[in-house]
Amino acid sequence: AKLDNPYVGAKAYVNPDWSARAAAEPGGSAVSDQPTFVWLDRMAAIQGTTGARGLRAHLDAAKAQGANLVQLVIYDLPGRDCAALASNGELGPDDLATYQSGYIDPIAAILADPAYASLRIVNLIEPDSLPNLVTNAGGTAGSTTQCATMKANGNYEKGVGYALHTLGALPNTYNYIDAGHHGWLGWDSNLNPSAQEFKKAATTNGATVNDVTGFIVNTANYSPTKEPYVKITDTVNGQTVRQSKWIDWNQYDDESSYAQGLRTALVAQGFDSGIGMLIDTSRNGWGGSARPTGPGPTTSVDAYVDGGRIDRRIHAGNWCNQSGAGLGERPATAPDTGIDAYVWAKPPGESDGASQAVDNDEGKGFDRMCDPTYTGNGRNGNNLTGALPNSPLAGHWFSAQFRQLLANANPPL
Ligand code: BGC
Repeated sequence: AKLDNPYVGAKAYVNPDWSARAAAEPGGSAVSDQPTFVWLDRMAAIQGTTGARGLRAHLDAAKAQGANLVQLVIYDLPGRDCAALASNGELGPDDLATYQSGYIDPIAAILADPAYASLRIVNLIEPDSLPNLVTNAGGTAGSTTQCATMKANGNYEKGVGYALHTLGALPNTYNYIDAGHHGWLGWDSNLNPSAQEFKKAATTNGATVNDVTGFIVNTANYSPTKEPYVKITDTVNGQTVRQSKWIDWNQYDDESSYAQGLRTALVAQGFDSGIGMLIDTSRNGWGGSARPTGPGPTTSVDAYVDGGRIDRRIHAGNWCNQSGAGLGERPATAPDTGIDAYVWAKPPGESDGASQAVDNDEGKGFDRMCDPTYTGNGRNGNNLTGALPNSPLAGHWFSAQFRQLLANANPPL
């Protein structure tokens, strides 16, 4: 039988490629021994690309380190990143067959090698895909035609189902489905529809709910694990903080509470009562001099929330290379109720997207949410993006961002 929480008693693999880049930065050696996820972000990544070894080489390196847990991101769906452009992928909306036979099957074949039977493999399944079907596939201000296409053709659900079923069939794998973050799916109008969407995908194309170990929240995002000075139940002069401009009637204002609330909704949908949650804490620390040290003034709900929130973003829908962010909690096992682990899914220092158009052969487009001069769209309330300037393509090393993440780490380094 599979373990309830694969992180318990595990030694997680440190990706030497990321580690070397982190250690080369001033002060970077304070965190360069932390485990981060390996993103298999295109078919070529399975064999290895310039600057990143392939899957077998990672698994071999893990064994050589004496590690017994390797964290992978499965990220190559047809029509990938349908509500943004920065991480559009190599496969078109109809390329499900290629995804299955050219991407998932080769990964599964390597993982099935008996040489790797002693490794626990955590698979983060397809960031942003199912959440995009819930909120961006028709009817709302942030919808895109690309997401409507992926909802209509079913290829996100079929791809996720295939990945869950194929990878889940191996005895040593642990699948965690990406579940957005509180500032995306935390509203009542999104939470249960999300749980239903996850159930649908997890029972499509051969998958069952038993192929799912759990879910991950905040992948590559900046939402805090905990808002220490703004509880969602707080009131100011008799008014709930939920009516503040920042929270805007959300039921959650941080990832711990969102993860736990979503977990309950997922079990109600039929997922196993033992499912566990992961939180990507790589860049949600929000430390440094701009971090509030106590609650805001009680002059109004907005003054209270804006004065006390550690999330310093302009809008919680901002997601690209956020200015002022810091490293969050270091990876940790079973840190909280219902939480299997804090993890670093997004390797700190790797860009979310380029701040201007850059030619490339990775399928990546230019998303203006990565341009600090852009005034936004329906998914960030038409606000400035808060992105750092001069950023490289998604996944490429962004030294200035890494240095800021170190400086603003919380807990401090
Ligand atoms: C990029 C991937 C990259 C990953 C981790 C994503 O935004 O699209 O290419 O591997 O981030 O940095």
